[in-house]
Amino acid sequence: MSVECEKVGGINLAQGVCDTEVPAAVREEAHRGIENGTNSYTRFDGLEVLREAIAQKLQRYNGITVEPETDVVVSAGATGALYCACLALLDPGDEVILFEPYYGYHVNTLLAVDAVPRYVTLRPPDWSFTADELERALGPRTKAIVVNTPGNPSGKVFSRAELELIAEIAVRYDIFVLTDEIYEHFLYDDRFHLSPASIDGLKERTITISGFSKTFSITGWRIGYAAGPTPWLRRIGYVNDLVYVCAPSPLQYGVALSLSKLEHSFYEGLCAEYAAKRDQICSALLKAGLRPHVPQGAYYVLADVSPVPGKTSKEKAMSILGQTGVACVPGDAFFHNGGGNNLVRFCFAKTSHELDEACRRLTQGSLDSARKPEAASAFKT
Ligand code: PMP
Repeated sequence: MSVECEKVGGINLAQGVCDTEVPAAVREEAHRGIENGTNSYTRFDGLEVLREAIAQKLQRYNGITVEPETDVVVSAGATGALYCACLALLDPGDEVILFEPYYGYHVNTLLAVDAVPRYVTLRPPDWSFTADELERALGPRTKAIVVNTPGNPSGKVFSRAELELIAEIAVRYDIFVLTDEIYEHFLYDDRFHLSPASIDGLKERTITISGFSKTFSITGWRIGYAAGPTPWLRRIGYVNDLVYVCAPSPLQYGVALSLSKLEHSFYEGLCAEYAAKRDQICSALLKAGLRPHVPQGAYYVLADVSPVPGKTSKEKAMSILGQTGVACVPGDAFFHNGGGNNLVRFCFAKTSHELDEACRRLTQGSLDSARKPEAASAFKT
């Protein structure tokens, strides 16, 4: 869709690249890292100052206690951390449960290590699931459950009750939880983030994966991490050394210092800024006749495109691009077995200027067959 978008000079709300500004403190500390000579390989698991800052953040924000010396591995983004965790902990043929709609990289990372994905399909509007559905997805070779909270593409924020249910099953069947919390600071309507590793019974079997791409708008820096029990993190560290050697050292330094420097107000500001952007795009989608599934967190919105011409979600996404000049991702990218045909995903991690223009195009474009009379009513969260 990004290629198609470029061809027509459209606005790209397809890829989750995050075009917003990098905080000044983050840029300055990375410069300082280069100038003060932090330019060579770091230890395989990252700079000490960053592992310590991550451990403090995990304690403060996530309620997870880890030893920075042994339980944290800094990697090439959350993507690198997940890949290393899968290479280290899974054997070919192991089954891993994912909730769908899923993030495509999760599935493809599992496939890359010859693991076998099994799916639990979440039900809108709140993307719920039952214990029964989760248990039905388990097999004799199930080794892990992947959690993504807040989730891409649905924006689902897992509740305590849901995480306790996952904990009960993970303990009973003695399996890992691999949790991707890259959107942990993007939460709306007074929701709060709950890390699976902070739930009773899960700490000793959970690998917490996150990073700074989204929080600091530095998707190209490639700084993320895995954290969890020492024996598993040692193995993940070996693989990280083999695959990446280390994450970029001055950028590790920049992130470490920024983590210690940026105050609570920065994270509050982030939530407020993105909540306003979420409301803006949801309102525009509603006016355009594309009913949004209002996200609880992260920075994507799935919209119902059943009124848009086209048989598949790809055809519908192309119709939207053709008629409004706004690109989105076809919903079938987030489901196995042909689900998601009446869904598309829009990313709202854009500058205000770009998002204003995208919303103007969506509401003033010629999605006539999609426009519904009730769509003029104001969007409410
Ligand atoms: N996890 C999820 C759920 C994501 O949506 C993304 C970005 N699209 C990533 C991980 C990528 O994170 P990183 O840049 O740290 O590799």
